[in-house]
Amino acid sequence: METLFLDDCEEQLETAAKLIKSGEVVGIPTETVYGLGADAANEAAVRKIFAAKGRPADNPLIVHLADFSDAEKYTEYIPELARRLAEKFCPGPLTMILPKNDRIPYVTSGGLDTVGIRIPSHPVIRRIIELSGCPVAAPSANTSGCPSTTSAAHVMADMNGRIAAVVDGGQCRFGVESTVISFENDDTVRILRPGCVTREQLLTVCGNVIVDKAVLSGLDNDEKAASPGMKYKHYSPAADIILVDSDLAGFTAFVGEHCGSGVYALVFDGEENEMPCKCLTYGADSLQQAHFIFQKLRELDRLGAEKVYVRAPSKEGVGLAVYNRLIRAAGFEVIRI
Ligand code: AMP
Ligand code: MG
Repeated sequence: METLFLDDCEEQLETAAKLIKSGEVVGIPTETVYGLGADAANEAAVRKIFAAKGRPADNPLIVHLADFSDAEKYTEYIPELARRLAEKFCPGPLTMILPKNDRIPYVTSGGLDTVGIRIPSHPVIRRIIELSGCPVAAPSANTSGCPSTTSAAHVMADMNGRIAAVVDGGQCRFGVESTVISFENDDTVRILRPGCVTREQLLTVCGNVIVDKAVLSGLDNDEKAASPGMKYKHYSPAADIILVDSDLAGFTAFVGEHCGSGVYALVFDGEENEMPCKCLTYGADSLQQAHFIFQKLRELDRLGAEKVYVRAPSKEGVGLAVYNRLIRAAGFEVIRI
């Protein structure tokens, strides 16, 4: 199939919305990463998403709606705490896991009785939702297992010929996927996947915020994942990624001992001159690091990197999301110095 490359003018957004309404898959910008959007209520359309990504069928899709009040149409029940969180964080990079109703097919929810609901803030996906009139299921627009896509060119690199169209809405603002939470009780949520709505921000509304064990560590073979996506190796470029948790001096000395052709370091802005090997930087603070991480992982592949030592980010605030993506890209291989 030929993949149309659309811009974000009204006429082309109408084309994108028509494609979605007719059961096709379209690459769409959001404020987190690009998504592969299709009508969440149309089983055949949703199957096309799984096929385009090569995504395991038990890894559920997040459903994107224009307004949190629309969540009533697709869920059995909305806890009071979810309403309060929506007031503060929707539209934005927060996904809430809620009990689904029959309008969401099991293909979309990966066989679960729950559905992840998100209200995106990016004007392009919001307009496409409005024009199509569809709830839009949209996982990240990358080949399953590869780094997520944060520009239309990256979506084309992974999806050209596999989907009907890509809409170019520029570079994504946040750069990592939404924060995914489930509800434990009236006052407590559990972070299943960290994102740019931080634990600290959630605590301004919730009495208690649990960070699921799988956020920072791999699951044992017999362990059940609260969020099925967390059991898969993720976000990996072709290069071998090794996370090195150390201060700058320790990191520099370690990399010095492991230099070689094909070896790169990925460090914070301002540290590049210290490096004894080829290197890239990925930002000075956690927000910048989130913005750049997937772009830099893709760039390392383009440069032909074989092994990449990554200076581990902070786990505070948005840093937790960056650390979570990197530890998965590294297949949980962390060197602590
Ligand atoms: P992606 O589609 O690439 O943004 O990944 C979606 C993430 O949300 C995966 O980690 C899923 O496991 C998680 N997710 C989506 N829906 C649910 C759900 N109903 N229950 C638990 N986790 C979910
Ligand atoms: Mg993904």
